[in-house]
Amino acid sequence: MFKINDNYLKLPGSYLFSTIGKKVAAYSAAHPEKEIIRLGIGDVTQPLAPVIVEALKKAVEEMGVQETFHGYAPDLGYEFLRNAIAENDYRARGCEIAADEIFVSDGAKSDSGNIQEIFSVDNKIAVCDPVYPVYVDSNVMAGRTGTYDPATGTWSDVIYMPCTMENGFSPELPKKRPDLIYLCYPNNPTGASITKDALQEWVNYANREGCVIIYDAAYEAYIAEENVPHSIYECEGARTCAIELHSFSKNAGFTGVRLGYTVVPRDLKCGDVSLHALWARRHGTKYNGAPYIVQRAGEAVYSDEGKRQLKAQVAYYMKNAQVIYEGLKEAGYTVFGGVNAPYIWLKTPGSMTSWEFFDRLLETAGVVGTPGSGFGPSGEGYFRLTAFGTYENTVKAIERIKAL
Ligand code: PLP
Repeated sequence: MFKINDNYLKLPGSYLFSTIGKKVAAYSAAHPEKEIIRLGIGDVTQPLAPVIVEALKKAVEEMGVQETFHGYAPDLGYEFLRNAIAENDYRARGCEIAADEIFVSDGAKSDSGNIQEIFSVDNKIAVCDPVYPVYVDSNVMAGRTGTYDPATGTWSDVIYMPCTMENGFSPELPKKRPDLIYLCYPNNPTGASITKDALQEWVNYANREGCVIIYDAAYEAYIAEENVPHSIYECEGARTCAIELHSFSKNAGFTGVRLGYTVVPRDLKCGDVSLHALWARRHGTKYNGAPYIVQRAGEAVYSDEGKRQLKAQVAYYMKNAQVIYEGLKEAGYTVFGGVNAPYIWLKTPGSMTSWEFFDRLLETAGVVGTPGSGFGPSGEGYFRLTAFGTYENTVKAIERIKAL
């Protein structure tokens, strides 16, 4: 009889989003007249910018003509896109990343889940707590996390780095040495950002201790402050210890189109084995790249007009962030994030748990957010609202919360 990968059986069910779904459905059924506003999910609501639509149309036309038809895309991505990324996301910021160190993919979710495959199953991972769930779940599937304790919501072999109000949602360097460290800045779910000096400390630690940092920069486009780095490669020495993940989802509305990229520098080595070569081998075999049409749309993101239109889109969501942040403050809440990130993280009032607050917000204001405990034990007592709704709904939701 065949056997399954029983690591999959260890995964607890998707408690967070299924519970949210059930609660919202039950409320809607009981109150069909009530309009529900969803500020819980990380999906965007604004349509693709005209410059992206034009690029997609043009590429579709090319695909229908013999001379300009494209079949399989190159394993690592088309040069036109990798060159645009290297120029705009790295060279323009003084980072030494070459086009051939960039691997184009179908998004940061796939890459953040898949990247662990090139590391030994014996490696210990460290994650922020609370955390984007993909990092832990993909390591569970690989058999790297030990046993799950439902009482604490933690895995025995994972090093959790608490991010709380007390440490400004910036974890301390781990006391126990990990092999792989997952960092995400600007952060989902807390909306926290990191200064260049603070990130440099992580890079120094990783180089000193022989760790790899997997740095998720999915929300980089939302950075507004000067001293916040857009890339880990702005830090000295990051080429020998860091992999960086990027997405086109949050800056350009590609959540349904799918495009991202991962940087694995040639200097990142384990002994004399190049991680770049391993990831290239993996990409060549289990390709999760993007079609020609989508890569042309990605190229348009870096055109002058693309930059202008997408800056406006990011500004639209950041205006929502400001509405949420200031509205909640006015209403007396303790609020974090929302400055360099499209997430607002708030302290639940009094001793309310994050699920109690979820129920209260749904039942009294018809607003859906995400309970902080769903992102990890240190998220208990916090709540996430996202800036990705429409402006009108965001304003309406905050008016309702203020009226509570
Ligand atoms: N990384 C983080 C931290 C995220 O929050 C998300 C989506 O919510 C992703 C990656 C997914 O990015 P993509 O849409 O490119 O797969």
